[in-house]
Amino acid sequence: MPVETAPPPPHQNESAFPRLDEEDLECLRAIACCQQYQDGDIVFRAGDPDIDFFVVESGALEILNPTANNAHVVTHGPGEFAGDIDLLTRRPVIVTAVAQGRTRLLRVAGDRLRDLLNKVPRISERLMVAFQMRRELLSKAGIAGLKVVGPGKCRDTTVVREFLHKNFVPFTWYDSASDEGRAAMTEWGSPRKSPVIECGGGKLLINPTLRELAKGAGVWRHCPDQTADLVVIGAGPAGMAAAVYGASEGLDTIVLDRLGPGGQAAGSSRIENFIGFPAGLSGADLAVRGVLQMLKFGAKMVAPVSVDRLEAGKKPGDPLSLHLDCGATLHANAVLVATGVGWRKLVAEGAERYERAGIYYACTAVEALLHADQDVAVVGAGNSAGQAAMYLATCCRGRRVHMLVRSTLGPAMSDYLVKRIRSTSNIEVHEGVEVTAVRGGRQIDEVELKSRDNPELRKTLPLGAVFVFIGAEPHVGFLPDSVARDNLGYLLTGADAVATGRWPLKDREPCPLETTLPGLLAAGDVRSASTKRVGFAVGDGSLAITCVHRLRTTQSQ
Ligand SMILES: Cc1cc2nc3c(=O)[nH]c(=O)nc-3n(C[C@H](O)[C@H](O)[C@H](O)COP(=O)(O)OP(=O)(O)OC[C@H]3O[C@@H](n4cnc5c(N)ncnc54)[C@H](O)[C@@H]3O)c2cc1C
Repeated sequence: MPVETAPPPPHQNESAFPRLDEEDLECLRAIACCQQYQDGDIVFRAGDPDIDFFVVESGALEILNPTANNAHVVTHGPGEFAGDIDLLTRRPVIVTAVAQGRTRLLRVAGDRLRDLLNKVPRISERLMVAFQMRRELLSKAGIAGLKVVGPGKCRDTTVVREFLHKNFVPFTWYDSASDEGRAAMTEWGSPRKSPVIECGGGKLLINPTLRELAKGAGVWRHCPDQTADLVVIGAGPAGMAAAVYGASEGLDTIVLDRLGPGGQAAGSSRIENFIGFPAGLSGADLAVRGVLQMLKFGAKMVAPVSVDRLEAGKKPGDPLSLHLDCGATLHANAVLVATGVGWRKLVAEGAERYERAGIYYACTAVEALLHADQDVAVVGAGNSAGQAAMYLATCCRGRRVHMLVRSTLGPAMSDYLVKRIRSTSNIEVHEGVEVTAVRGGRQIDEVELKSRDNPELRKTLPLGAVFVFIGAEPHVGFLPDSVARDNLGYLLTGADAVATGRWPLKDREPCPLETTLPGLLAAGDVRSASTKRVGFAVGDGSLAITCVHRLRTTQSQ
């Protein structure tokens, strides 16, 4: 059950609630208008989209959390300001601000603030840190944002929770079997279907599609139809890095993702090999930081939107057309495919039936904690499987984690992970086995394994969930055949593209990340011969921008 606690008062959180000094205020006054409020006036209300930035000049501004019965969150005094990451995402705010006494505020329009963040690093640094910390504090306080009620081990509820988690929409989930869940359902007139999501202002969504949910949560604005210098497909590490570099170097950049930011990396509980983070950082943290950075520089992020089909122009060098599942078609001279890979599905009797309701292809807090009191299995022997096993074993010490490996643990995994797994007492490694069946009723009860050496040798393990990381396939199905792939389906670029004999232009070579379709670049996991790691994807995404500049130069000649 969530615990209702207010974040510590401002003086204990100087980074989250800094006081701007006179120099900062002078800078803001140049772009602000001054507004007077009386005691009790609402300055902004939870649910208002795209709010402006407010700084207290005199008086006070109280912040209330309507999801927790308008609990007091904090009071901003002179020199302090309201707002968090929604000033960058432009999504509806999750708190309400009320003037206390006669109050004078500086009001800065959202787009002018975003412009200032790029121009004045000293203000940018303090605001960006404060925005992120405030959101963290509010989320940790327990009750914030949307209310979700649905059965825990149900596919539709998991999809809703995963989507909100991935798009860092604050929400509180109640199992429909819990007292709070039952009370909420009764209050909402006992809808026959679930999950039910209360989006604020009394608006209810009942078992919504992803797009309806995205609209209700303020994540989705509209189907993009504008032209851009660069369209990036995929907001994993490669796509986000490209957007940060592209937008910061003045390219009008739009990023499309079918789910939300972070890509596979968002499914990692702790990334320990990404330079600059010696203590590691969670994939969710990397996603929030990455997306805020690209929004700060002016890139646009659209999700959930899938590129259904990419079409080449009539002749080489003509703009490419992207047909989106929301109905629009975008045209661009430079497109970066950063769509990464998807996990191969577990082929075993019963596996499909339990997908997202016991069989998972990700391991974030959403899935891991659902089965906190049950033994679980991880299938696979790569780094992703290893990380998942460690996370599942350490987040819930009382459970046993079975690692199911077809051959032996080691060759496909970083040495440090192998050592940790071997020395973790509640992980048991089963080598030389394959999953043949997943059985149960409404939920998984047991998994059957067979020995690879002796297929007659079978055993069953009583388990509540199976986490699958067994090899990847590139997301390239939306690309035309003119884009050359290697024998595993990964996209060939640069010299490898030329070597296929299918590069169509005589007057120039492709740039290192350009595919056999001029103007179409590929970066990250989806690219043939790339190293499938966060750091490499980030490097690839950044290199793509050098290619875009080269393309623009040749296209303008
Ligand atoms: C559980 C897990 C843990 C990991 N841990 C580590 C680690 O600790 N260290 C490390 O270095 N690496 C780790 N990795 C690997 C790392 O996450 C990947 O190498 C990296 O995310 C690849 O980045 P990418 O941007 O190329 O692709 P991805 O991260 O796969 O992102 C691709 C994006 O494209 C989107 N997309 C796909 N098709 C479409 C379409 N048609 N239209 C719109 N959008 C589309 C997807 O939704 C996705 O968001 C881990 C991977 C997993 C799964």
